[in-house]
Amino acid sequence: MTSYRLAMAAALTVAGIANASERCIGIDLLRQGDMVIQQTAVGNRVELDGRPLRVSLDGWFAFGVGRDARAPVTIEVRSALTAPCRVTLPIQARNWPVEHVNGVPQATVSPPPKVAARIAREQARVAATRLLDSDLNDFANGFIWPLSGRISGQFGSQRIYNGEPRAPHSGVDIAAARGEAVKAPAAGRVIFADADLYLTGGTVLIDHGHGINSSFLHLSRLDVQVGQRINQGDVIGAVGATGRATGPHLHWGLNWFDVRLDPAALPPR
Ligand SMILES: [Zn+2]
Repeated sequence: MTSYRLAMAAALTVAGIANASERCIGIDLLRQGDMVIQQTAVGNRVELDGRPLRVSLDGWFAFGVGRDARAPVTIEVRSALTAPCRVTLPIQARNWPVEHVNGVPQATVSPPPKVAARIAREQARVAATRLLDSDLNDFANGFIWPLSGRISGQFGSQRIYNGEPRAPHSGVDIAAARGEAVKAPAAGRVIFADADLYLTGGTVLIDHGHGINSSFLHLSRLDVQVGQRINQGDVIGAVGATGRATGPHLHWGLNWFDVRLDPAALPPR
């Protein structure tokens, strides 16, 4: 059991006798891009806006709040022993910066039709992989950074490539030397590994359970295969500049199913 897990459990023990919102989930505010990891009493059921969340045998559950989420969310915790508890939490908006990325190959910004079709196929494969809802609960042990380095691109920033606006940045970019080891931020199972996607180059996805997964893009080398079980800190590949990149860096993405979350907003540990 990690210190993070112990700290969360302790917070919830206290929360059990605190006010209504804390009795439900132990937090009273959410920010856009947040991943929420919580533990409830064994046997409780949890719903988010009426949608049942997977709860592990020892009470852990997780969900995320998207970059553009604005409407408050309602969490309901139901127990066989006590009255249900329901709390509505506001979402705090964030100011997303604008980032100009110049010097990427123009064919990656405005791809010709044949390439556009390839990109669409590849993105559909990744998107389908992200919908996996497994009973792993590795997310409950917390996350470490996959490598240390300067943040060269923030989650959520409005991206302008070679002067053309594109989708907001879906993860955090960490500048690093080509070949530097990339470590698994949490334990899990490899659910996607492809050395050559058009936009994201060497690409690995790890399932941490309950729809929480992380992705690692632009890798120069992949050290894992689909289906492989990995521990937190295991080397999964090496930093590169494959796909749409101006130089070697790691793009680290974090998802709750199709909802993109901010890895830099994870609780420190
Ligand atoms: Zn990136």
